[in-house]
Amino acid sequence: MADRDVELLAIGAGPSNLALAVALEELAPDLARNALIIERNQEVSWQPGMLFPEALSNTSFLKDLVTLRNPRSRFSFLNYLHSTGRLHHFVNMGSLTPYRAEVADYLRWTAQSLALVEVQYGRRSVDVSPVWTGGTLTGWTTTLADGQTIASRYLVLGTGRDIRIPEVLRGLKRERVVHSTEYQPRIAALRKDLPYRVVVVGGGQSAAELFYSVQTDLPECRPTMVMRSVGLNTYETSKFTNELFFPSFVDEFHAARPEARAQILAEMRPTNYAGVAPGMMDSLYRQVYLDRLSGRSRLQMITMHDITAARDEGDEIALEITDWRTGAVRELRTDLVLLGTGFSARMPRSVRRLAERIGLPDIAVTRDYRLVIDRPSTAACYLHGVNEQTHGIADSLLSVMANRANDILQDVLTGDHLDTLAAAPVTTPAAAA
Ligand SMILES: Cc1cc2nc3c(=O)[nH]c(=O)nc-3n(C[C@H](O)[C@H](O)[C@H](O)COP(=O)(O)OP(=O)(O)OC[C@H]3O[C@@H](n4cnc5c(N)ncnc54)[C@H](O)[C@@H]3O)c2cc1C
Repeated sequence: MADRDVELLAIGAGPSNLALAVALEELAPDLARNALIIERNQEVSWQPGMLFPEALSNTSFLKDLVTLRNPRSRFSFLNYLHSTGRLHHFVNMGSLTPYRAEVADYLRWTAQSLALVEVQYGRRSVDVSPVWTGGTLTGWTTTLADGQTIASRYLVLGTGRDIRIPEVLRGLKRERVVHSTEYQPRIAALRKDLPYRVVVVGGGQSAAELFYSVQTDLPECRPTMVMRSVGLNTYETSKFTNELFFPSFVDEFHAARPEARAQILAEMRPTNYAGVAPGMMDSLYRQVYLDRLSGRSRLQMITMHDITAARDEGDEIALEITDWRTGAVRELRTDLVLLGTGFSARMPRSVRRLAERIGLPDIAVTRDYRLVIDRPSTAACYLHGVNEQTHGIADSLLSVMANRANDILQDVLTGDHLDTLAAAPVTTPAAAA
């Protein structure tokens, strides 16, 4: 007997499940009343490690949790601005992209504005098991960190992706290695007056932001950026390729042959992962220029190098870096390693564990994000934001969330999941690996 029984349990109160909550309230109020979102943090906190005062979202405010699905919704970013008295100022700023901090606040406001869907904070799921009744999958039991259990017929996982720590750095003591997702709270806890040597790993937007910010956050530090690429590049911003971020492109992408999908993803990398926002690029270049002008030489950028070994040595870290042009190897000693290395492309560990529990050989989802379970079933599980291989590069982004919430909800409401065996899965061994 579980401690709580709900029809739909959504794990994680990030944008994905908040978009689902909004869709539930607007389109399925009865189900909304029997839905619960659990969140491990004490409040909705979007990107808490990277909320730099001047950081902008790279997505139009019109791609909020709902507008592309229902432009008349009360949960829109515009209504949030109106409710908080900033509508005129935002309009006057003349920008489509809000500050990251106000996106975070909008998400908090949305959660607080829900009237039917319950959100519980400080509740971390640690395990999910399928419930079988005579060979039919009939639901899920979710166990929380405090030992309590929640039973549900529908389960929606919106817990984000696992962070990526390069293999070579995994053995280092965690107290000297900071991933971008934990940057702000961990750096805030350090003394400001020490001349830390800092190595920033990576060549994309996160690494650029870390390199830029640490100069102010640890004013005496000496940062070095190490990247494999030939140098920093701005990300591609063509309006033509941006059409591939439209929710409607998900159908096209999903219907494409696996090799074609892989090619599209590779060609689209410079639009999202392998680049730096143009504004940040200018600011960074100016920082480096001024550093040279002052003769201080506090900043260093090492391009075309791989980190090939790393070890803790007393109070410092010794990195071995290899110039891939010549094979020359040298050592870089540092007090702190900041990782701008992003997220793993693999299915998150929690999803892989669940798949094992169900006995799935592959992890695949239908077009409507439902986990394919080749067994009779009256229950279903949906995966948000981890289906880039089958649903396209926008899968982890705000761009498709309003529509994805609707896709998932309609799959639940129309009962398509009851016919699991008839669904046409798209198998992606790479994603399941
Ligand atoms: C620095 C940064 C900036 C970004 N900026 C943009 C942008 O401008 N535009 C854009 O489209 N995308 C951006 N992204 C991409 C980002 O992935 C999406 O915006 C979005 O956050 C994905 O939402 P999500 O709900 O799927 O996952 P997440 O935002 O990761 O939310 C997951 C939630 O689940 C909770 N959770 C995790 N595990 C558990 C558990 N076991 N139990 C309970 N709760 C749990 C987490 O605490 C979190 O609240 C950015 C990403 C980063 C890292």
